[in-house]
Amino acid sequence: MKLVFATHNKNKIREVKALMPSYIELLSLTDINCFDEIPETSSTIEGNALLKANFVKEHYGFDCFADDTGLEVQELNNEPGVYSARYAGPANDAQANMDKLLANLNNKSNRNARFKTVIVFIQSEKTEFFTGICEGTITMDKKGASGFGYDPIFQAIGFKKTFAEMTLAQKSKIGHRGKAVRLLINYLSKA
Ligand code: IMP
Repeated sequence: MKLVFATHNKNKIREVKALMPSYIELLSLTDINCFDEIPETSSTIEGNALLKANFVKEHYGFDCFADDTGLEVQELNNEPGVYSARYAGPANDAQANMDKLLANLNNKSNRNARFKTVIVFIQSEKTEFFTGICEGTITMDKKGASGFGYDPIFQAIGFKKTFAEMTLAQKSKIGHRGKAVRLLINYLSKA
């Protein structure tokens, strides 16, 4: 079964491929030669995931799924949330994003945060939503070199390592994207 994952993000593809059963052949946007600027203009994580999945289905015809993820920080009224990629500016610079977040939490005692991933899956006329949430805290400093985005400053509840200090398998087991992907896989196995 061929399924397009509507992303060019190699880190996301690596995470999701590691979880997919072998009967699913995962294709990225690069694999289907889709280099369009897909609009992510919604004000919600769900809305942006839907825009991406709809775009691929409409323009390329593949059954597909898209994910959109946001980091919601309690003390900052759930910011950066849907604006996580461009928190510090249009360049989607992970270091600058983390620096801005750490600066905004300077001297704050409440460092609770959560990652939220929404996957939208489109097959024929059907559209399904799957949500994965990982609760945790924002560390005082960046730690670790694995992963991407805000991984070096996010520590899941009950763990001493940041996501960037974990292996891919450890992050996927407890992480937001892993949870959402497992819901999708469970759905596919029953379809
Ligand atoms: P996207 O819109 O789903 O690509 O995610 C928005 C931004 O959230 C990304 O540019 C990353 O900065 C961040 N992000 C998404 N997923 C993760 C993750 O698993 N770990 C850390 N940061 C992430």
